[in-house]
Amino acid sequence: MKEIFLPGLYVENISKITADILKEKDIKGLILDVDNTLVPNHVAEADENVVNWIESMKASGVRLCIVSNGARKRVIKFNEKLKLYAIHRAMKPARKAFLEAARLLELENRQIAVVGDQIFTDIYGGNRAGMFTILVKPIDQREGKFVKLKRIFERRILRGYLRANSSEEYTDGT
Ligand SMILES: [Mg+2]
Repeated sequence: MKEIFLPGLYVENISKITADILKEKDIKGLILDVDNTLVPNHVAEADENVVNWIESMKASGVRLCIVSNGARKRVIKFNEKLKLYAIHRAMKPARKAFLEAARLLELENRQIAVVGDQIFTDIYGGNRAGMFTILVKPIDQREGKFVKLKRIFERRILRGYLRANSSEEYTDGT
């Protein structure tokens, strides 16, 4: 029951997600959250590190699609240079946008990993869609009141995850 909230993998940031890790898990596509996963909430464009990571994923044959709950304008601007498939106002954790992304990527759900910073939207939604899920630490800890509240419940869930995984796949920023 609680497993539906647990990520398949928990990493410090996106750069820890490598083509080798994905290959090992037979994952051929990534669904990417934007806010606080790729960039801080109010940053309009991807920085060099993110661009390089995306390019290396593409070069390894990994297919990418942005799935964001953000507004159309925000997502289009963010994706202007990246030119990935992108779905805005995704209403995560609803499954619809994840399934639409799978169609765009021309992959089975099980061949896709959802990457995001929020358990109750990205991870819960990805798990429900039958996809692999990768939780990243939120880039910016300064968040709105509602998100802060959600983080309290997220931490409770994560404690269980970290216990079960003996922090083997988790790096604590060191
Ligand atoms: Mg996010």
